[in-house]
Amino acid sequence: NQANTLFSSFDSEEEVTFFADLILPIPVPKLFTYRVPRGMAEGLKLGARVIVPFGKKNGRVFTAIVARLHNTPPTGYQARYINEVLDDYPLTTGYQLELFKWIAEYYMCCIGEVMNVALPSGLKISSQSKVQANPDFDYPELLTEFEQTLLVELKKQSALSYEELGRLAGEGSNVAALIKSLVGKKAIIVFEEVREKYVPKMVRKVRLHRNYEEREQLLVLLQRLEKLPKQQEVVMRYLSHIPMQRTPSLNQKGLDKTILNQDDELSQSSLATLIKNQVFEAFEIIQPRFSDNDAPQAEIKLTEAQQAASTQIMAQFERQNIVLLHGITGSGKTEVYIELIQQALSSGSQVLYLLPEIALTTQIVVRLQRVFGDKMGIYHSKFSDNERVEVWKGVVSGQYQFVVGVRSAVFLPFDNLGLIIVDEEHETSYKQHDPAPRYHARDVAIMLAHWQQAKVLLGSATPSLETYHQAKQGRYGLVELFQRFGAATLPNIILVNTQQEKKQKTMKSEFSSTLLNALEANMERKEQSILFQNRRGYSPYMQCEDCDWTAECPNCAVSLTYHQRDAELRCHYCGHKESVPRTCPTCGSTKVRTIGFGTEKLEDQLLIFFPKSRVLRMDLDTTRAKNAYQQIIQEFEGGQVDILVGTQMITKGLDFDNVSLVGIFDADRLIHFPDFRATERAFQMITQVSGRAGRRAGRQGTVLIQTSNPHQPILQKVIDNNYKGLFEEELQERQNFNYPPFSRLIKLTIRHADRAVSHQAAERLAAELTDALGSSRVLGPEEPLVERIRNQFLFDILIKIERDKVNIKAVKAYIQDRINDILTDKGLRQVSVVADVDCL
Ligand code: ADP
Ligand code: ZN
Ligand code: ZN
Repeated sequence: NQANTLFSSFDSEEEVTFFADLILPIPVPKLFTYRVPRGMAEGLKLGARVIVPFGKKNGRVFTAIVARLHNTPPTGYQARYINEVLDDYPLTTGYQLELFKWIAEYYMCCIGEVMNVALPSGLKISSQSKVQANPDFDYPELLTEFEQTLLVELKKQSALSYEELGRLAGEGSNVAALIKSLVGKKAIIVFEEVREKYVPKMVRKVRLHRNYEEREQLLVLLQRLEKLPKQQEVVMRYLSHIPMQRTPSLNQKGLDKTILNQDDELSQSSLATLIKNQVFEAFEIIQPRFSDNDAPQAEIKLTEAQQAASTQIMAQFERQNIVLLHGITGSGKTEVYIELIQQALSSGSQVLYLLPEIALTTQIVVRLQRVFGDKMGIYHSKFSDNERVEVWKGVVSGQYQFVVGVRSAVFLPFDNLGLIIVDEEHETSYKQHDPAPRYHARDVAIMLAHWQQAKVLLGSATPSLETYHQAKQGRYGLVELFQRFGAATLPNIILVNTQQEKKQKTMKSEFSSTLLNALEANMERKEQSILFQNRRGYSPYMQCEDCDWTAECPNCAVSLTYHQRDAELRCHYCGHKESVPRTCPTCGSTKVRTIGFGTEKLEDQLLIFFPKSRVLRMDLDTTRAKNAYQQIIQEFEGGQVDILVGTQMITKGLDFDNVSLVGIFDADRLIHFPDFRATERAFQMITQVSGRAGRRAGRQGTVLIQTSNPHQPILQKVIDNNYKGLFEEELQERQNFNYPPFSRLIKLTIRHADRAVSHQAAERLAAELTDALGSSRVLGPEEPLVERIRNQFLFDILIKIERDKVNIKAVKAYIQDRINDILTDKGLRQVSVVADVDCL
């Protein structure tokens, strides 16, 4: 009998050891096997977090996730014991473990790197180094006088962090050296202390078996228990808390087991008997921290067009898992989303609504909160770690069935998703650049939905070529919404020829007279304007008129940007700062001037042209603080501000009533950016920022685009809002050169402090890949636009792989092997290679 043999092996003297394969948050491409101590084995669940020792350094610990439990000892090394189990309830779901694995494989990174980025740091124990006086130390003569006094102080306070010790030692002391010396003399002990931990509270509950929810049955039961007074008492105690007569449904929520147990043993055993006899049933829940208030329902009335879109989306979901909502700016896509979210929630499933970083601000949150109240979780990178842990917990506990969040929200522990919305799906900020995993949240969302059998709605006024192509091929559904809400119409777009105005000498610095006049007229009407220049700082170059010297970053191959506000030159790649030279450092000339312009300069000049106007600037420099972005928006919304100047931040999803003019600078630079996606991007950016104008019924908005060449075909397409025309033409180009969506791109970036070494490694890698994949699939190595960053010389290799014909997994594995060869080659020490799959 099989069961017997199994039990006998447990009963025998021989020790049964359980092993757990764990995901550790480190960039090593494997799981790590640890021993599970006897007492822990029973409660240990897949997906729970544990603390484990790691490495040779004593006391170093990591938070790890249990990915597999088994009985096979690892070969080749002695498994160490797990220190501690953090969760008695899994904090990550099986879906997440699948997802981590998929991301690691697809994006060519390690599962530990995925886990590290997925979990908010509040869920990863950070171990902090601390010091303690060694109680066995008895040789004060070994210590300097200073060390002796320090040790006396240290003994008074049981343990100190390095920082605290530093404070104790006094300003300017070299703490590292001090610790080294004290450890060397064995006067102190260094150890690691685990700082925070979050344990979801699991509550054991009991409820009456469904049979006894009926009054008759319940009475029969109580009668039957007359002879068993203790058991009867337990049932009565239960009924005193759960009044079954009035609200039988309450029974389903059950009662904490501890309330029935109280502390006498008799009731404990009676309860156990009642459970065994199926009078009660025992179950577990995770304690929600919040009460579940009913959401304040705001009434939405969809317009006819919106209703039609919503109905079509639902109909297409019958056949398709993914639907693209192609809706022009201001068409009210958000209202359509809200309708669909409500439907999904009422069917009992979870909903995730992804937004690009910057769009997720007060405006949209307020709109959603009006509808969903505090049932909605918000997951934002500007939120503190604690806030993110709260949302994570809320998803586990069921408090948040609906989360609106930025790209990392795809990592939340959903297990029952019904709908994922990816708003502004074309947004490049959905792609993570650094660190690994270099994932695209839209594409991860699609996988996530696939596993949980959820639907995906992608929304945009300017869909990415990839997505629109899928829709055109019939792989995604497609629904169009080409009407602005209310009586509002798309703005009138006008090209302003700066070349011509320069000839006529009507340009004032960067402003055409056309734009200045329009701004002035707009202010007189008390309407607001938005000006877009995709460059921050005052000017991107500083140059000597006499000898052509330009200010360059010492660490990177780029010019330094002049920031007038802080009177500094800054590198936008490495953060290097230096003061502005009064004279040319090369020839001593005083004719040092700035070339080009950024948002700071525009802001400055507006105040010269319109001294009475109120101007706000929104770019990376003005929005670093947590609430700075929202403050700017609120101020602008309040109406006292006339003009908002900004970088691409202002193109995303903003919705203001009173904006009737948008001015776009330097359109040529957007269009001629050296990248095969430049046309698509320029169209998206210009269309999106134009879409901020005239969003309310009333006067039609105006967009003025300053360009030195109004005859560029893309500009005409912008004017005609001809997305489809742009799509067709671009698609042809992409096909001719076998670029996405016809291929997948993997970019390898090779770095080294020595250009020759970097080049050698890149050449070798490219040669090996070309040999295996063919020269049509491998481009480079080439120096990127900025060929040196932080004193590392870069080379790029671009690999193009056809979409369907090739076994992409095998190709990736092959590429990874070749990378590993490079990384382990002793002749190429310190070379690093980064793989970016589906690079943008
Ligand atoms: P999009 O995201 O498509 O650019 P929004 O969803 O931001 O458009 O909608 C534009 C504006 O129109 C918003 O201020 C929104 O509140 C309003 N709006 C859209 N549809 C409706 C509706 N059915 N009822 C009331 N207001 C609406
Ligand atoms: Zn000079
Ligand atoms: Zn730099």
